Amino acid sequence: MTYALHSRAAVSDLFGDRVIYRNLAPCDSCLPSLRDAWREIGLGSSRIPRKAEPAYGQVVAWLLQRAQQMNAPGVPLREMVYLGDTKLLDGTAFANLKQALRLPGWAFIASENLTAPSQMTPEGDRALANRWNALPEFVAWARSQGGRFDESTAFVVDLDKTVIGARGRNDKPIDQARIEGVERTVSEVLGAAFNRDAFLEAYRTLNQPTFHPFTADNQDYLAYICLIVSAGLMRLPELVSEVEGGQMKDFAQFIRWAEMVVPFAQQDGLLEIHQAVYARVQLDDPTPFKTFRRNEYLCTVARLGRLPDDAPLAERLATEICITYEVWQAVAWMQERGALLLALSDKPDEASLPTEELAAQGHQPLHRTPTHIVGEEVRLS
Ligand SMILES: [Mg+2]
Repeated sequence: MTYALHSRAAVSDLFGDRVIYRNLAPCDSCLPSLRDAWREIGLGSSRIPRKAEPAYGQVVAWLLQRAQQMNAPGVPLREMVYLGDTKLLDGTAFANLKQALRLPGWAFIASENLTAPSQMTPEGDRALANRWNALPEFVAWARSQGGRFDESTAFVVDLDKTVIGARGRNDKPIDQARIEGVERTVSEVLGAAFNRDAFLEAYRTLNQPTFHPFTADNQDYLAYICLIVSAGLMRLPELVSEVEGGQMKDFAQFIRWAEMVVPFAQQDGLLEIHQAVYARVQLDDPTPFKTFRRNEYLCTVARLGRLPDDAPLAERLATEICITYEVWQAVAWMQERGALLLALSDKPDEASLPTEELAAQGHQPLHRTPTHIVGEEVRLS
């Protein structure tokens, strides 16, 4: 394996603003957002579907068709190619998107594992690989099944842990940035009373899949729960045993309980932040903890391009969020061939875009923030 550093770039250098974060409001202002277009798309409401829902595929398919009319008028889309890093989530998103487009399509899903021999396994219309450098093999495989890879191709690429922070190679800094976002939020509220070890123990414990029925695997909920535990309103072992014993069933119950006890808490600032989250939860906002997401945004962009050019590669992959060179080359190659490019991210918009205030200070959206490109040279043809 010969990873090497290859200059710096921002995701926007290839994708421009053809990037869509979780709210399905394209950064490219030429494309309408779900909020404005849901009727035209044929949906029953403007509710934002999650990535694995069929409606998500419907929205993205509609946006791709719209973008293609602008990009290459008169050239219909004839196929879709998808790159991602998660078998279940990306596999489902790909299947739904393909169904909505009613076009042939192929997906490449990779998670690097250098301890196993290099392998790419086709499963129906998708190929699972344990090396990012298997992309040329994937292209050859899709071609053998009729893939055209030209201006009639929609090339849809997952952003997180695919274009940036390659899974199995460079994904830890993405998770680390999120934990730092929670930590910064909690420590800002608790000040001198903040106990980092206790906080990390709560986060690591409750982030485990066994607690998903309680946290709904929602990072905003988890961040809020860690705040309440770190503030000492409920001890972690007590919460764990209530969840395991079935007395504490879900997050709705937890925040109702907090609504009663937080007004009596000692910490200044806790009530204010609780009320802000509580109000958003009542509105069914799936990302109700705005302060946390703003901190996650700050911690994430801080990890893009954070190290000097001469930093050791191992340190870079462990701490900096980098662009995946193999994926980057595939995107550039597809761009040369005239394909329609689109990057999709499951990250909430609040964790990806600066607030107006931060933008005024010079902060850029995640996809416009430069970082280093790391990976292996591949040959695509
Ligand atoms: Mg991903």
